[in-house]
Amino acid sequence: MSIFSFPGCLFNRHRPQRRGVSWDGRQYIGECRDCGEPIQRHGRRDWRKRKIESEDTEGVPSST
Ligand SMILES: [Zn+2]
Repeated sequence: MSIFSFPGCLFNRHRPQRRGVSWDGRQYIGECRDCGEPIQRHGRRDWRKRKIESEDTEGVPSST
C-alpha cells in the first residue's frame, strides 16, 4: 500500500472518485481516489488539488 502508487498525484494530476463528484455551482469537486485529497475539475480528465481557503488569493502580488 502506497499513496504514491499513482504518479499523477505527484504532479497534481488526480483522479476523482466516481461517486464522490458533486457540482458546487461553479465547478465539479470531489476527492482523489488515489491520495484522498480534495480536488476540483479544471477540464476534461484534468483534476487538480482543491484550495480550501479563499479562491482569490492566488495570483495576488504581495506588495511589500
Ligand atoms: Zn491524487
